[in-house]
Amino acid sequence: MSAIDGLPPLREVIASHGLAAKKSLGQNFLLDLNLTARIARIPGDLSQASVLEVGPGPGGLTRGLLAEGAGHVLAIEKDSRCLPALTEISEAYPGRLEILEGDALEIDPLDHLPAPIHVVANLPYNVGTELLIRWLTPESWPPYWSSLTLMFQQEVAERIVAQPGDKAYGRLAVLAQWRCETRVALRLPPEAFTPPPKVHSAVVHMRPRPTPLYDADPETLSHVVAVAFNQRRKMLRSALKGLGGDVEALLTESGIAPTERAERVSIERFAALARAFAAREAAS
Ligand code: SAM
Repeated sequence: MSAIDGLPPLREVIASHGLAAKKSLGQNFLLDLNLTARIARIPGDLSQASVLEVGPGPGGLTRGLLAEGAGHVLAIEKDSRCLPALTEISEAYPGRLEILEGDALEIDPLDHLPAPIHVVANLPYNVGTELLIRWLTPESWPPYWSSLTLMFQQEVAERIVAQPGDKAYGRLAVLAQWRCETRVALRLPPEAFTPPPKVHSAVVHMRPRPTPLYDADPETLSHVVAVAFNQRRKMLRSALKGLGGDVEALLTESGIAPTERAERVSIERFAALARAFAAREAAS
């Protein structure tokens, strides 16, 4: 049975182009075009948008994006074996899909796409997390991207959306939510992929806030949060010793009890701590 775009089903594409999944590239493919269309709808109307898809593989999500009306998609794929299959998709959607062979960690999308960009990706865990950190720490805010729709291992997704007091609450939650609205948009069992990974997955949708939730210098916030969560079970008066100086005074000034633990401190209080620390450093 041919799919709505007139292209062969993904199982046939994989067989005819010899795209047996490679573990070294973290390849777990989505073959259900109804599911990929569902993911493609998460960012909203993309008809006038620039879309960056990282790691299209045989093109399941790419086809979902194009079938759902994405105006212009740039797809960056490291595995050269996938390029013929992706070229067939670009021929079925003339002028709407541009394919780049290469490592997404080494390509600046702004060299190829006008901002703002909606980013959509189903990537291996390590590449996805590294790119997320980069997308959260650009030179200026609001960033060049207008939404991120990213598949992660469920455990990583939980860390992005976690609230104070949750087991998964940590640096990733503070840095992501300080600058973005974040939500888990979809959860997927291992069987949704071919081959199935060992763990469950989830799609996180993130939209940048026009300005961060609370005033703070990004690098200082990142630093104090990293120090605080380095010893997450210790009281902050000892966990923050790495900041030097009178830690109890810093905490009190920030409205945080010195006996509190990092995992219960809100983003608002961490921002206050970053401001107090920056002020102390500037004065010394
Ligand atoms: N998007 C497809 C899907 O959902 O079925 C494939 C997903 S598969 C989990 C990850 C894809 O990312 C693979 O096609 C892999 O070759 C590609 N990939 C891995 N590392 C990459 C990198 N550094 N840059 C670009 N693509 C990468």
